[in-house]
Amino acid sequence: MHIIVVGGGIIGATTAHACLRHGHEVTLLEAGDVLVGATSFANGGQIAVSESAPWSQPGLPMKMLARSWRADAPFRLRLRADPAQWRWLLAFLANSRASTHHAARMRNLMLGRYSLTCLQRTRAQLGNEFAYDDSQKGILQLVPAGGSIDLDHIRDQTARGVPVSWLGPQEIAAVEPALAAAVENGLFAGAVWGKADESGDAHLFAQRLVETFPRARFSQHRNMPVTRIISADGQVSGVLSAERRFDADAVIVAAGVHTRDLLAPLGVKLPIYGVKGYSITVPLDAGAPAPEISLTDLKNRLVFSRLGNRLRVAGFAEIGARADIAPARVAAIRARVGELFPGLPLVDELSPWVGFRPMTPDGAPLIGPVPHIAGLYVNSGHGPLGWTFSHGAAQIIADLASGITPEIDIGGLGVTRAMARLFSKRSLT
Ligand SMILES: Cc1cc2nc3c(=O)[nH]c(=O)nc-3n(C[C@H](O)[C@H](O)[C@H](O)COP(=O)(O)OP(=O)(O)OC[C@H]3O[C@@H](n4cnc5c(N)ncnc54)[C@H](O)[C@@H]3O)c2cc1C
Repeated sequence: MHIIVVGGGIIGATTAHACLRHGHEVTLLEAGDVLVGATSFANGGQIAVSESAPWSQPGLPMKMLARSWRADAPFRLRLRADPAQWRWLLAFLANSRASTHHAARMRNLMLGRYSLTCLQRTRAQLGNEFAYDDSQKGILQLVPAGGSIDLDHIRDQTARGVPVSWLGPQEIAAVEPALAAAVENGLFAGAVWGKADESGDAHLFAQRLVETFPRARFSQHRNMPVTRIISADGQVSGVLSAERRFDADAVIVAAGVHTRDLLAPLGVKLPIYGVKGYSITVPLDAGAPAPEISLTDLKNRLVFSRLGNRLRVAGFAEIGARADIAPARVAAIRARVGELFPGLPLVDELSPWVGFRPMTPDGAPLIGPVPHIAGLYVNSGHGPLGWTFSHGAAQIIADLASGITPEIDIGGLGVTRAMARLFSKRSLT
């Protein structure tokens, strides 16, 4: 079968890989001039199975409004005269009830765990030389002084085979010596250590993965924005770009925040909204006192991942934001790096970056067939967890497109789930 994958981010690249492994011919079409140049380019780098709970959770909407005027506010909401934004926010609130949250958390945990298994299989297949500034040392979630943790969540994870443990402040310093000064300064109540979690550079991973694809069955076209999906009599037949038509037996749309606009003309209204985040990348000299273990600073919702001789620091969530880089936000990240790692020299140029997480209101990706158009599939809406979920989501969509039953229960991930009907055709980013 010939499959077109629309979008060359981490989701498109891993989807192409999974389809090739099933023996298909794959054409990858990317609007930009590089692969993995959009939201997947400079993200936080975490494979965060232990932190896969959806953002739609009890109490979070209020936290989103607190401190939102400050430069270091983790969340910021800017209301716009955009009915689509209001509908998304209402659906997000509806999904933040305690009654729906537990099931959503378990669904994400299961997908995260499966995705990690798929990543490990890929690594085993590609061999030890396949490196992407990766680390398998886990993630420490740093609980601020005076803060507390959800013990039920820890128990749930352990019961489902995701190993997490609690560390007191001195144990934090023993596990991650770069945090010794911050521990000494009394910044933490403790940390949750997700031991199976990982980190790595999604951009590098995808670039190197694509290099391994069999040339006889794979082609890629960059600077090739798809303008329309072609279908007739309930069957997809290919896509159109400004330059030409591409025919295929199946089309998988993995276009991040733009997936919605591509599907809207076909009457498919997807609840995907772009939520802006920032990152900086700190170059490290040999022996620099930077963390080796990936970290989540729960106070400021920032993540830190050691990517070889760089430290990636990412975070913030802005709803209704434009795509500019606000110097005050970059300065706030920089200040927190200085607070956590006082001995780490920071150069002036820290490659500030912004990206838009393709978020759904219930915090689960949209993975599955479009019901009324045979051969058309979606793999998008992975929100803050696209790198974490990419390997599992790719395997699931490749299985579905090949008529194979996925290895895990995919209830709650499909395109048709009820909330998808709440949305209009307008662009949200
Ligand atoms: C600040 C920040 C930190 C993050 N940290 C983490 C993290 O630590 N761990 C984690 O798991 N996730 C993280 N994420 C989330 C993760 O980066 C995203 O979920 C993921 O990148 C989404 O991948 P994607 O391939 O769907 O989208 P993208 O990377 O945006 O790729 C979509 C591609 O489709 C292309 N495209 C769009 N329209 C068309 C068209 N019409 N025709 C052809 N091509 C098209 C675009 O050019 C783009 O290249 C973070 C996100 C942000 C913003």
